[in-house]
Amino acid sequence: MRQIEQRKQEVSDLFRARELLTALSLIVSLLITYNLWTTASQVAAQASYTTFDFRVRETNERIRQRLGIYEQVLRATAGLFNAVNPVTRDSFRAFVDTLQITTNYPGIQGIGYAEVVPPAKLKQHIDSVRRSGFPDYTVWPDGKRDIYTTIIFLEPFSGRNLRAFGYDMFSDPTRHAAMALSRDTGQTAVSGKVILVQEAGREVQAGFLMYLPIFRRGTVNDTQQDRRANLLGWVYSPFRMDDFMRSVNGEKAEDLDIEIYDDTTLSPKTRLYDSAKSDSALDPQHIFRSISRIEAGNHTWTIATTGLRVFEAKMLSDRPLIILQAGISISLLVTLLIWLFLDDRARALQAAEQAMQLALYDTLTGLPNRKLLDERIEQALVKAKRNRDHVALLFIDLDKFKPVNDHYGHAYGDLLLKEVATRLRSCVRESDTASRLGGDEFVALLSDTEGPHAVETVANKILERLTEPFEVAGHTFHISASIGAALYPEHGTDAKSLTKSADLAMYDAKKSGRSTVRLAANGAAKDAVQSNR
Ligand code: GH3
Ligand code: MG
Repeated sequence: MRQIEQRKQEVSDLFRARELLTALSLIVSLLITYNLWTTASQVAAQASYTTFDFRVRETNERIRQRLGIYEQVLRATAGLFNAVNPVTRDSFRAFVDTLQITTNYPGIQGIGYAEVVPPAKLKQHIDSVRRSGFPDYTVWPDGKRDIYTTIIFLEPFSGRNLRAFGYDMFSDPTRHAAMALSRDTGQTAVSGKVILVQEAGREVQAGFLMYLPIFRRGTVNDTQQDRRANLLGWVYSPFRMDDFMRSVNGEKAEDLDIEIYDDTTLSPKTRLYDSAKSDSALDPQHIFRSISRIEAGNHTWTIATTGLRVFEAKMLSDRPLIILQAGISISLLVTLLIWLFLDDRARALQAAEQAMQLALYDTLTGLPNRKLLDERIEQALVKAKRNRDHVALLFIDLDKFKPVNDHYGHAYGDLLLKEVATRLRSCVRESDTASRLGGDEFVALLSDTEGPHAVETVANKILERLTEPFEVAGHTFHISASIGAALYPEHGTDAKSLTKSADLAMYDAKKSGRSTVRLAANGAAKDAVQSNR
């Protein structure tokens, strides 16, 4: 019995452990997965930001390099003016032809020379150019100004560039600012955003100009005053922004949006260039965004670079997601395996415990069976011998039980037997044993009883309880019992003799008319104990 209790405890412990261990394994493995996932995400994010930064720096560097190259081209052109005097249209053309700008310097719209013309010499200047083969030549726009400048050379002298012939760039504030700056510093100056006069009105692009001043030959121009006094004009280059950027990007970067803004304000008005025509820089929902500045020809450009969806898709690695999915799957699998393993063990143990239960207990009533009863009788006798106590056995056979089966069927008989078991159990103490031998035969083992009288009392109580009507499945049954009682040491000193005495006493009870308690016949206790009925 103790063994069974122990087994039951083990089974319930194992079931609890199964729950605990599986929960624990799930939590631990999910935590590990979470850790791996966050680490992988961080590493991936780091890598993609590094890539993006690299791309941004690369693009900015290419823009800077291009502007530097064009500055060198202007310096070379200035060199022509310093070496040759006067520079004629033909020599200028020959020089620019040699540079082969369309092939070697894509993005440059042309190389030109704008000459300073004082108001007093304007008419003379116009006449002389007209005489040289350009009868329609004029300096434009019209109007009185303190000083005039005029584009007299612009190579290649064809197509859009012809439109710029004679234009006074000094009359336009944006160009004026850059021209004045380059004059005053003696350095290259880049203008703000302009629409070139070359634009024909279709596919208009934003543009900018780059100027380098030309001073009178042989003069020293250390001060601003010197430079203003000795200025002859400017070599310059007009740039159409989209063409310029095409030369910078080479194969266009489809995955990035590059926007260039004049100076430091980001607005459609100041925008020089927008590769994706998407306004991305002003849209905060992009993950990869960078704002940087480059200085060129005393002018600031703001470069706003944005990673487009294509770039995001390329950058956002799916490795963290794979790790997450795999981790969760493995966690669940491991948890399932642990569960199955522990469940299997727990069930095996439970099955073993149930088999043990079957071997020692009556399946119908759940009472100890004959095997367990025998064990308990032995134990009770050992204890009684040591303590000089009494042990009593009550053999109980139901009276006229068979007719219940015969009239109502076996199933009703079974229900009645279960009810009898319940009543019997309620009549004995916790330390006693109510058992079923089989059929309608029950045995109660009463350990350390006080003697025949106490036994008689218990036996009569049992008889009384079993004589009370039974309500089973809507039917009322009236039965009774014949009970034989035997005591240690009076009616037997071992299990076998004691059992025999009790059995005989029970038969005695049957013979004497049933519904009776009989004490085993032996010595002084031989007198029959009649029931009070
Ligand atoms: P008596 O008064 O002489 O004791 O006669 P009885 O009718 O009680 O019959 P007896 O004790 O001789 O036999 C017991 C009967 O109980 C025999 C059998 O039909 C029935 N029986 C035995 N085991 C079971 C069982 O597990 N379930 C049911 N329903 N009946 C059983
Ligand atoms: Mg019977």
